[in-house]
Amino acid sequence: MRDADGVATLAAAGPDPGGSRQTIDFLGIRVDVLDTDGLRERVLALARQQGPHRVMYVNADCMLIAGKNAAYREALNRADLVYADGIGVVLGARLWGHRLPGRSTGADFMPGFCRDFAGHGIRLFLLGARQGVAAAAARRLCEQAPGLQVVGTHHGYFRPEESGRIIGQINRARPHVLLVGMGAPCQELWIDGHSQELRVPVLWGVGGLFDFLSGRTRRGPQWLLDHGFEWLCRLLVEPRRLWRRYLIGNVRFVFHVLWRRYAAGDRDRE
Ligand code: UDP
Repeated sequence: MRDADGVATLAAAGPDPGGSRQTIDFLGIRVDVLDTDGLRERVLALARQQGPHRVMYVNADCMLIAGKNAAYREALNRADLVYADGIGVVLGARLWGHRLPGRSTGADFMPGFCRDFAGHGIRLFLLGARQGVAAAAARRLCEQAPGLQVVGTHHGYFRPEESGRIIGQINRARPHVLLVGMGAPCQELWIDGHSQELRVPVLWGVGGLFDFLSGRTRRGPQWLLDHGFEWLCRLLVEPRRLWRRYLIGNVRFVFHVLWRRYAAGDRDRE
């Protein structure tokens, strides 16, 4: 079903999920309190409504970037849903007395979500990563979720002036969910800057997801991933690109969280 503006909408619109958000404020970022099942329910509900709805994630690296980049911070706080995809955010939030149910990592949940998308007739468009990677990820998802409709893919290395042409291509393909995998903060800023031109119910930043789904980047043993060491696996697989992010970034994040907690505690005592 499509409305007058040509926005793809599904028949049964659920209750407004934006109205029932349960969130915490973690270092100035509004983060939703929900587990992976809750995330799936919310995304399914948002995909049934007229958009644009912005779905974004945060991890320790994102929090550090958000501390310095006001446009990114505002884009996160304008989103309709922000979930924790890193264990650092879950543990850091605990220091402030907030309980997040856990982290939700796209490479783990996306094949399952896509089986639901297939069942509900929700169409996807994949934008991001190097030439051919999004298409390879789409093929893999369609194998894992029979019946899934991926209505288009495009790589993520384009100039700002090419955005209009790509947005036209996306709108003509009429997806319900646009996955944007161009890394933080680039993807969030692109989503935020173009959300009014995109006639898509859900605009979702997914980072390096297509690299993992396509098999271009290995992820590491499941038991390490399950115990909060995804960052270590990523560091071992791509040390030259990621050593600064994880070795320096993780230490900076711990100090940042402890310092902000200490400073807030001091203010409380005054
Ligand atoms: N990427 C892109 N366009 C760019 C820069 C990066 O599409 O201009 C892609 C890159 O190929 C990779 C993803 O964005 O697939 C970034 O992955 P990363 O794991 O760094 O994401 P993050 O951890 O920042 O969410």
